[in-house]
Amino acid sequence: MDHARVLAQVHDLVKDHIGRGRVADYIPALSRVDPGRFGLALATCDGEVHGVGDWRTPFSVQSVSKVFTLALVLARDGDTIWRRVGREPSGNPFNSLVQLEYENGIPRNPFVNAGALVVTDRLLTLTGDSSGELRSFLREASGNPAVDVDTEVAASEEAHSHRNAALAHFMAGYGNIDNPVQDLLHHYVRQCSLTMNCADLALAAGFLARHGLLADGSRLISRSEAKRINAVMLTCGTYDEAGEFAYRVGLPGKSGVGGGILAVIPGRCTLCVWSPGLDAKGNSVAGVAALDAFTSLTGWSVF
Ligand code: GLU
Repeated sequence: MDHARVLAQVHDLVKDHIGRGRVADYIPALSRVDPGRFGLALATCDGEVHGVGDWRTPFSVQSVSKVFTLALVLARDGDTIWRRVGREPSGNPFNSLVQLEYENGIPRNPFVNAGALVVTDRLLTLTGDSSGELRSFLREASGNPAVDVDTEVAASEEAHSHRNAALAHFMAGYGNIDNPVQDLLHHYVRQCSLTMNCADLALAAGFLARHGLLADGSRLISRSEAKRINAVMLTCGTYDEAGEFAYRVGLPGKSGVGGGILAVIPGRCTLCVWSPGLDAKGNSVAGVAALDAFTSLTGWSVF
């Protein structure tokens, strides 16, 4: 396939969507991003990268980080995390508190905030420095040593983290958080505040397209763990809109309120799209449209 030509076609097809939607403003530092940006990168399983638009411009990864923290926990600890977090779509907003009470402090899945807090808590216990561990992994896997935390976004997010603090305290009340809530939030916020570009993220997620293998051929997670992460991305990765995303795009995907979406085509490639305007559920408007156009043009979906 002529990757560059397909990406250019996708860019052309989604021009009208770029700038639509609302930039996330509940984290003040995120609200200053230009909604007119758009980038799309594709990384093949053998590490070739192609891109279009602002694919080299760093953005705030936010919840896309949740895919990687889950992989790092599975890599170190195997299946045990699933005793503390479920794997069903929540049908609720990503930062919802209500479900946790009637489900006894066990979050529905690792991609809602409560679930990601549990995963981060485990990574913190296992490593003593979950955000440092994640940053090292992402630097190595993306080949970009400049991947780092945006300290302004982190500070802004930490100062506005009442809901996440409530989720963490609530789960701690059920015995589902092991570390001090303050430490946990600090690491969680730093993970969300990492800044990467589309190429970095597409390359870093390559192990999900390579059935668990890193670029150098070593194994990060088992083939079945890679399958499972992809499955949870498909069913739970795009907020309370995962059904619509599966319907339109037909790929495992994980979005973040920074406007990024990571998508995986097992055995072929990874894609990362970024455009900051979000729809009402929190997914990038132009990002979803681009992935929809990509799978329609290429026929590359998991279905
Ligand atoms: N750091 C954000 C939060 O915890 C992540 C939200 C997201 O991207 O879904 O609210």
